[in-house]
Amino acid sequence: MSERTYVMLKPDAVRRGFAGRILQRFEDAGLQMAAMQRLAVSEAQSKALYAEHEGKPFYDSLLTYIHSGPVVATVWEGTGAVALARKLIGATDPAQAAPGTIRGDFGLVMDENVVHGSDSAESAEREIPIFFPGLD
Ligand code: UDP
Ligand code: MG
Repeated sequence: MSERTYVMLKPDAVRRGFAGRILQRFEDAGLQMAAMQRLAVSEAQSKALYAEHEGKPFYDSLLTYIHSGPVVATVWEGTGAVALARKLIGATDPAQAAPGTIRGDFGLVMDENVVHGSDSAESAEREIPIFFPGLD
């Protein structure tokens, strides 16, 4: 079934000049780009995106990282888009992420792990309107 997922190229990806190559991987995998915008994430947006992590030891540094520069917010659509995007992205810790995955190839440390991808279709439907409120 066709579904949508929220993928965000985090500040390190933009800063280090990997945005184009990362976007290419989602296109190569057959996903359709449904939305894309470069933006500075607001406090309200980061708090909403990461609500489930509030109170965890890494929460404050995570928000500082997400606000450290512009991101590229994207929505991708296709059959099994959520799981496919997570597969392309790889494990949360770049040090553990397999070669060939985005985090495995472009990331170094957990603190700057290059990209966000929704972990379920339900998460995607919650996350997409935080960044693309008008998207139908
Ligand atoms: N994170 C971190 N330290 C940790 C766990 C997570 O800095 O020990 C950050 C990291 O940027 C990660 C984000 O918090 O991408 C959200 O964590 P989650 O467990 O949801 O990982 P993801 O779904 O991004 O793989
Ligand atoms: Mg997550």
